[in-house]
Amino acid sequence: MKPKIWLSSPHMGGNETKYIQEAFDTNWIAPLGPHVDAFEKALCTYTGVKHAAALSSGTAALHLALILVGVGYGDEVLCQSFTFSASANPIAYQGATPIFIDSERETWNMCPVALEEAIKDRLKKNKKPKAVIVVHLYGMPAQMTAIQAICEQYGIPLIEDAAEALGSTYKGQAMGSFGKLGILSFNGNKIITTSGGGALLGNEEALITKSRFLATQARDPAPHYQHSHIGYNYRLSNVCAAIGLGQMEVLPTRIERRRANFHFYQEELKAYPFIEFQPELADSFSNRWLSALVVNESAEISREDLRLALEAENIEARPLWKPLHLQPVFEEAPYYGGGVCEDLFNRGLCLPSGSNLSQEDLTRIVDTIKTLF
Ligand SMILES: *Cc1c(COP(=O)(O)O)cnc(C)c1O
Repeated sequence: MKPKIWLSSPHMGGNETKYIQEAFDTNWIAPLGPHVDAFEKALCTYTGVKHAAALSSGTAALHLALILVGVGYGDEVLCQSFTFSASANPIAYQGATPIFIDSERETWNMCPVALEEAIKDRLKKNKKPKAVIVVHLYGMPAQMTAIQAICEQYGIPLIEDAAEALGSTYKGQAMGSFGKLGILSFNGNKIITTSGGGALLGNEEALITKSRFLATQARDPAPHYQHSHIGYNYRLSNVCAAIGLGQMEVLPTRIERRRANFHFYQEELKAYPFIEFQPELADSFSNRWLSALVVNESAEISREDLRLALEAENIEARPLWKPLHLQPVFEEAPYYGGGVCEDLFNRGLCLPSGSNLSQEDLTRIVDTIKTLF
């Protein structure tokens, strides 16, 4: 059996162990400490957002974001359907209902037209949505100018799920910095990792301060343990933040490598017109976290043929996210739009995209695809 090629595996830079050693040497083995502070500062500097709270996961960050904008039992939250389940699960944690929105072909992300249609219809039903969650899928920025304008017009807070989009920009501005709140993920498969972690980003200091309070069991100021809110244990370990500090140093090269993977695939497969890659608009810059494509109907092979051919060579490739409105767990949730995200799901595949793929790996992948074609 040939060695396994993973979809997206962790890629350490080198200084992570130095910072972990520092954490051990100073005995900061807690969910707070100087490495957490330094990691938060690095995230602010990089994204241009004023405040950041390092947390235990991207999912935890989204959960706190919903709490902070006031989402509660019986509320409705508009959420991109074409995404990972973690984008919508926190809506359910709050006892609220997700309302799913279709994607547009231009970015594969939330369709502004379907978003506005949904808002108008919910308002007609006397239900004003409490928040909008937009996702930058595979690192590709959504059309933020249009989406922000709609959210402002109707006075609905925008939350950006930028879990996959650290390092991507739209009109020169970092993803995660557009919404009232933004979230990042540092899970093992993301562009950088803390072995598990996330962050909440925002320009309003009061919100990020409150997120830290909620994330550390909501302790009121008192010498004893005093509580007037339900709290969570959501903060990032100082040891994990040490990994994050090392990873931030290599983030620019990780983006370069992921984009280089994408351009290699695009060049090597341009002879096959039935392969279409995820488009990038002129004012967008994607970190190309995952290289994603769709196989057109004109092809004699299907997405599944392609995936299985790669699997037979011990190469991991994965279908695009299954839209959440088609997931059994969300089958009751309302949905606005047409069949765009369902069509992309049916025909789409993510190719191995790690920044640690060798040229030999990449050649093996495209050779397998060319042999199939
Ligand atoms: C990874 C991911 C999350 C969740 O992040 P975790 O850190 O794994 O909790 C949320 N949304 C999207 C789009 C993701 O890809």
